[in-house]
Amino acid sequence: MKKKLIAGNWKMNGSLAANASLLQAVLDGSKGMNCQAAVCVPAAYLAQVQTILSGQTLVALGAQDVSAQEVGAFTGEISAGMLNDFSVRYAIVGHSERRQYHAESDATVALKAQRALSAGITPIVCVGETLADREAGKTEEVVKRQLAAVIHTNGHCISEIVVAYEPVWAIGTGRTASPEQAQEVHAVLRAQLKAATSHSDRISILYGGSMNAANAAQLLAQPDIDGGLIGGAALKAPDFLAIMAAGSVSA
Ligand code: PEP
Repeated sequence: MKKKLIAGNWKMNGSLAANASLLQAVLDGSKGMNCQAAVCVPAAYLAQVQTILSGQTLVALGAQDVSAQEVGAFTGEISAGMLNDFSVRYAIVGHSERRQYHAESDATVALKAQRALSAGITPIVCVGETLADREAGKTEEVVKRQLAAVIHTNGHCISEIVVAYEPVWAIGTGRTASPEQAQEVHAVLRAQLKAATSHSDRISILYGGSMNAANAAQLLAQPDIDGGLIGGAALKAPDFLAIMAAGSVSA
């Protein structure tokens, strides 16, 4: 059975001092835990966090985005090759904040996943419906469309991705999908992945959206929830550690 993956998305938070103390507390508190973990940090801190995480294997380094381009005149972009220089293991692609504030299309997200995969980096592909989509009964249609673009572009390589189901209405709002609501969508995504690759059992499907120390255990106990993508709660060591502990129990 796969270990649960608990990935923190720090978003645009942190400082050299805050990162060092947060990570030290996470590393000290997580010894012996039976899950996998990652921290997806702002690009400016990749070198710092790479150094802090060296010499241990429980917490991996992740980025929050990767360019859809390989190299060249793309000011401000960071390529998969550059992430490789810092031994980045995961890169989030298609986070709803990128889709919303940077107008990233399904096709762009699929290309970003492709760039990551060709550099040996595991893309954490985010999909999720807005509240309006959910209320219009379109949840399944939206998440399947978003995932289909990644499957179409990446073919058999999709067995190497991680998927994160993140209902937009639950991100940073304190409003979590119930375990049943999350499981329902995870089962749809699982079936879609199964139809696309004979190695779908390798793919972890994470839940993200206001997961916290209090609700993690129930969410992570669902049969198709293989871990969590954690925003706000990843910035507080006790909360992140509690989620990692919940992931270790239901591993
Ligand atoms: C996220 O940004 O991926 C996220 C899940 O945020 P939060 O946990 O704060 O809802």
